[in-house]
Amino acid sequence: QKIYLNGEFVKKEDAKISVYDHGFLYGDGVFEGIRAYNGNVFKLKEHIERLYESAKSILLDIGMTQEEMCECVLETVRQNHLKNAYIRLVVSRGTGDLGLDPRRCSKPNIVIIAEQLALFPKELYETGIRIITVPTRRNTPDALNPKIKSLNYLNNVLVKIEANNAGVNEALMLNQQGYICEGSGDNIFIVKRGMIYTPPAYLGALEGITRNTIIEIAREKGYVVKEEPFTRHDVFVADEIFLTGTAAEVIPVIEVDARQIGDGKPGAVTHELLAAFRERVETDGMK
Ligand code: PLP
Repeated sequence: QKIYLNGEFVKKEDAKISVYDHGFLYGDGVFEGIRAYNGNVFKLKEHIERLYESAKSILLDIGMTQEEMCECVLETVRQNHLKNAYIRLVVSRGTGDLGLDPRRCSKPNIVIIAEQLALFPKELYETGIRIITVPTRRNTPDALNPKIKSLNYLNNVLVKIEANNAGVNEALMLNQQGYICEGSGDNIFIVKRGMIYTPPAYLGALEGITRNTIIEIAREKGYVVKEEPFTRHDVFVADEIFLTGTAAEVIPVIEVDARQIGDGKPGAVTHELLAAFRERVETDGMK
């Protein structure tokens, strides 16, 4: 396995960065999770654009153009001879000293890892997953704005721990007002009387690229998709629920906080959108 590290490809064992890296010391940096299907990197431009927007928001100069970064990602996939891959791209503020002043870091550390990853076992895409809602609230202001994919993912890690402790697969965060935001690393959709709903990103959610793809696919198929606030109650009484994310893809949900969703099996709309999503990723992408 070859890792991209600051312009070079190095063996996994040799891919190391300093303990003075400000991503490590302060969570000062940004990242993306991207995926390649059948030799094509899906929505690469969109992921790189989001990375650069996250970086801009925290005044982090990545030091290369978006086109150059796209090329680095594609080259990492090629170097590893992968047709299907999960790609993690991390840009930290760089190596500095113990002071948190970013001016101590002269250039960012850039790492690209491409490997195989299956977030959920295959059968769960057929049977659906069980989830809970958790007390951890999605922060919305300033640096912890969910729109910034920063290295400060502690809230999301806590959510995953709460899900693990409850013996379920994933958990949902609410915002301070009690509206549903998103999962630890995925967006949520609910289906009610044939209509599809997802929370607007401003409530406290990442504007997921998979989310946007699903909105597009669903509208092409003639569904009405609404970006509207909803509560735990709306989730409990939904006909169908599914989560979307680069790692999770489209995964059906069959139980929330011990309430069975629909008839306890993934619903027809979810099946249809999952199949269409799988078709889309095979045909759409950059080599
Ligand atoms: N929400 C959070 C908090 C995430 O980290 C992710 C993963 O990137 C998502 C949602 C899903 O976004 P995407 O579909 O762009 O991967």
